[in-house]
Amino acid sequence: MNDCIFCKIIKGEIPSNKVYEDEKVLAFLDIGPVNKGHTLVIPKDHYENIYDISDDLLKNVITAVKKVSIALKKGVSADGINIAMSNEKPSGQLVPHFHFHIIPRFKEDGLKHWPQGTYKEGEAEQVKEKIKNNL
Ligand code: 5GP
Ligand code: ZN
Repeated sequence: MNDCIFCKIIKGEIPSNKVYEDEKVLAFLDIGPVNKGHTLVIPKDHYENIYDISDDLLKNVITAVKKVSIALKKGVSADGINIAMSNEKPSGQLVPHFHFHIIPRFKEDGLKHWPQGTYKEGEAEQVKEKIKNNL
């Protein structure tokens, strides 16, 4: 994908603040941080989302997420870390190149968790079956 922003970052065509790199994975600061130190971790090969990345490459990416999370927490003295990933536009994915967000969190940083709902009697069992039937 020639017009992919993250592929351009990998190729060095767009500058970025790289925090970690290996043969298959790159991690760099998000240009619009939720909190300072917010980092994106991406595979160097272009995959759009969680559905199409290979299991093998995913292992490399999540291993890098762990490594960077530990360094980020120490580096910016975070009180916690959120790891997030959006898949497809309705979920909020803006850049169609697989990426994990690592977001440092601080006591009193003012961010709220997403709202939670409830299940009616018997509904959770039905939903569970819908998912299991597609595994
Ligand atoms: P998404 O909404 O797709 O999960 O997140 C995409 C992220 O990429 C956003 O948080 C956005 O700030 C970041 N981003 C978009 N363009 C650039 C860029 O050119 N450089 C960097 N470093 N981050 C970018
Ligand atoms: Zn790409």
